[in-house]
Amino acid sequence: MRTRREFLTAAAAIALAGRARAGAARYDLVVSGGRVIDPASGIDRVADVAIEGGRIRAVQPGIAAADAAEVIDARGKIVTPGLVDIHVHVGAPDLTPAALLRDGVTAMVDGGSAGADNIDALVRVAQAARNRVRIFLNVARTGVTAGGELMDIAAADVEAAARAIERHREWIAGVKVRLSQNVAGDHDLEAVRRARKVAGPLPVMLHVGQTFSPLPKILELLQRGDIVTHIYSPPPHSLLGDGGHVLPEVRAARARGVRFDVGNGRNGHITWPIVDAATKDGFWPDTISSDITGPGRTFRVFDLPTVLSKFLMLGMPLDRAIACVTREAAASVPALGDLGTLKPGAPADVAVFELRQGAFEFVDNVDAKRTGRQKLATVAVVINGKKTSSAGL
Ligand SMILES: [Zn+2]
Repeated sequence: MRTRREFLTAAAAIALAGRARAGAARYDLVVSGGRVIDPASGIDRVADVAIEGGRIRAVQPGIAAADAAEVIDARGKIVTPGLVDIHVHVGAPDLTPAALLRDGVTAMVDGGSAGADNIDALVRVAQAARNRVRIFLNVARTGVTAGGELMDIAAADVEAAARAIERHREWIAGVKVRLSQNVAGDHDLEAVRRARKVAGPLPVMLHVGQTFSPLPKILELLQRGDIVTHIYSPPPHSLLGDGGHVLPEVRAARARGVRFDVGNGRNGHITWPIVDAATKDGFWPDTISSDITGPGRTFRVFDLPTVLSKFLMLGMPLDRAIACVTREAAASVPALGDLGTLKPGAPADVAVFELRQGAFEFVDNVDAKRTGRQKLATVAVVINGKKTSSAGL
């Protein structure tokens, strides 16, 4: 039998060995054994994701536990790049980037909450966030207002917007313009012209649906890389023509590089019959975004994984839905172009989901209920190689 002293010595030796092993571990963190879906790398298989120094180092099966200082056991789970939501509103205190990080959203774009007059406060939100927040500056000086920020077109002040971009080049990744008639009256085309002029090489994101002008007239003014959000808006002036088919001008815009985004939101942005008609015609979104706000947290939107689950219900394969919030979202926003992938060398932003099976009710923007069979639920999030404190695993 060992003496107490011998036992303590042995225990200390084991502890030292443990520390030595941890010190020698090749990787800081390994997300182990999940189904890794990384459309940017063409990967959809069970594998381990190895992280070191805040970067992805390897995605391959069979990484030894001894090589990892820390492990997230993702067996039976879906592992994806951290989600990129290209249309959110984090300008008000009722919705913070931190709240969206818990959903797996490691990068986001605020879509026009602020304009030239109030951009500094939103930039401070972006600077303080752990996740990567970029901003589409509202072409209207006030940013979004309840009464409609472009009812007086003078609010679309090109000089003021250009100065704001100049001041915050690192944070402003594009220009947002809201075009519904209750926002812009009959000034929609002039508003797009001004937004396009301000943006220069940056993308313009256009909020469409219930506009004064028909969608083809608006699309004419766009260039490659511009983003149309709320593409499944109900009429007036939806993306469908009289026969219920997608307008040829919409397809032509996509063919010349205009991007089409969901922007779920709460009101006037998406109804199931419009999605059904468009997708029956093969017109699926390039990107899936939430357009989430504080009130959207508990009403019709909830979170980006819920919006993704809606598209699973609507018939989109899982890998394609994931592509819409990773590879494609990063491709839509040049400032986030290095994200949305698990390629070795990429920033180590990772999300882990459970794909729950059952009966889940989803609503569109008129509260029409449909039942889906699958729902994505976030269980762990890694940003810059660090597990977030809210991680469920
Ligand atoms: Zn919005």
